[in-house]
Amino acid sequence: MTERRIEAWLMDMDGVLVKEEHAIPGAAQWLELLTQRHLPFLVLTNNSMFTPRDLAARLRASGLDVPEQSIWTSALATARFLHEQRPNGSAFVIGEAGLTTAMHEAGYTMTDRNPDYVVLGETRTYSFERITTAIRLIAAGSRFIATNPDPTGPSPDGPLPATGSVAALITRATGAAPYYVGKPNPLMMRSALNTLQAHSETAVMVGDRMDTDVVAGLEAGMHTVLVLTGSTAAHDIDRFPYGPARVADSIADLIDDLDPAPDGHDKGMGR
Ligand SMILES: [Mg+2]
Repeated sequence: MTERRIEAWLMDMDGVLVKEEHAIPGAAQWLELLTQRHLPFLVLTNNSMFTPRDLAARLRASGLDVPEQSIWTSALATARFLHEQRPNGSAFVIGEAGLTTAMHEAGYTMTDRNPDYVVLGETRTYSFERITTAIRLIAAGSRFIATNPDPTGPSPDGPLPATGSVAALITRATGAAPYYVGKPNPLMMRSALNTLQAHSETAVMVGDRMDTDVVAGLEAGMHTVLVLTGSTAAHDIDRFPYGPARVADSIADLIDDLDPAPDGHDKGMGR
């Protein structure tokens, strides 16, 4: 690919490995190859709704074998960030199991009484009552955190309002803007690299969006690859003030970069 030595791979999930729950051609083979070669990798998603176990099951249903330890969500990144900022703190959480499980595992207490933070994530059942509580807690001094800034999410029937849109509602009511932990915040990349004990100089971020995946990878000091199987078309790339190190038609193109293995790497791992 380049002169750069690559030791770890971060890759976005939607638009890179799957599209509307269907595996992108080559994705299964790509993941198999990373596993066979013992190359450290994490699959990233800004969606905070699901736990890694849920996501691993969904990927498996699409024919992709990704262990739950190899999945890094904005919910996990948020819980890790809050644990580092304020260990054993308290939070009022609007979100699903992906977020509440991560917060519990990070040692947080969920409460609506004077919490350190209000943490907003993805759900399909935003409740007026809980949004009201969030607004009042923030007005009373709780710090406002949101898992990801995406204004909408995809669905077969059209766009769905996502965390960024609900955060805008709360911001309008309180005058307080959230701190977003998910992409494009490079914090999401850095916490993923820490999880792999990898270093940015020898890691790659593969994504399908310029304004999240590529910019976050760049700002974290990583090598970046844009694939054209998701939301970015080749003619869109030049409009951005930054660019990826490489553009690939799909994840399948990266298989050729890994293949053939350097001498000895595949010893005893017949393919
Ligand atoms: Mg994507």
